[in-house]
Amino acid sequence: MKNIEIKKIVPAIETSDGAGVKLKRSIGTPEADYIDPFLMLDEFGSDNKDDYIAGFPPHPHRGIETVTYMLKGEFEHQDSTGAKGIMSSGDVQWMKTGRGIIHSEMPAMSDGKLLGFQLWVNMPAKLKKNKPEYLYIKSNELGVHKDNEKTVKVIAGKYEKAEGPEKNHNVEPIYFHIILNEEKKFTCEVPESHNSFIYLLKGELEIGNKDHSKTVNSNLILLERGNKLIVKAKKKTEFLFIAGKPIGEPIARGGPFVMNTKAEILEAIQDYNNGTFAKY
Ligand code: FE
Repeated sequence: MKNIEIKKIVPAIETSDGAGVKLKRSIGTPEADYIDPFLMLDEFGSDNKDDYIAGFPPHPHRGIETVTYMLKGEFEHQDSTGAKGIMSSGDVQWMKTGRGIIHSEMPAMSDGKLLGFQLWVNMPAKLKKNKPEYLYIKSNELGVHKDNEKTVKVIAGKYEKAEGPEKNHNVEPIYFHIILNEEKKFTCEVPESHNSFIYLLKGELEIGNKDHSKTVNSNLILLERGNKLIVKAKKKTEFLFIAGKPIGEPIARGGPFVMNTKAEILEAIQDYNNGTFAKY
């Protein structure tokens, strides 16, 4: 067994996206551009409605999967396949855009707290041409493990007997939301092939056996490869643990499109401009 140690601690950067929604971006930044297969990680939300009320009006995507996890608040989603739905606290939407989708994500609330995460997972070339696919996961459909020391909500992967609803996925993802009590430990096995990271929401933790600098909220903690993760909470701590098997293909980014080559990005822009983008 090889213990997983910290590779690098990356503070999230404050930015905005959509029609001016304030967010903290940690993957998809100069310090953590692409953690194969993960292209982007955003924490969105605020106590102030002016920071989110403009939402994300209609925009396209191609070649990626977006995984949205709402912790507080409500968002309404609509897209070019005709799908429509409200996501509320604890719900997950796993969208595989494949060839293309045009969607909007707008707050379904006029004030109050909003908090959520959006993770972008790359798709391999062979899946980028697929029809869009969705998985809507209600909060009560997540796998949950609970004991005296911790709660582990499982969106993907398996922890003890709790299994996530996203299965048979090409990157074999692990996506856990963990609440760990003070001085308690969380351990799990991880395939050594996987890239992984922790995103700290609240509290303070120690990882692996080596000394490391103090971690604070909204830090992205990139991890070395290994097969055993050991996390100790110095005080009550809440974090996301996410891992996936790298795809190992070249990427070309063009805003909401992520393809293998620049030519494919230009093709996506052309398809969008001449109205053939979201035709299946
Ligand atoms: Fe989007």
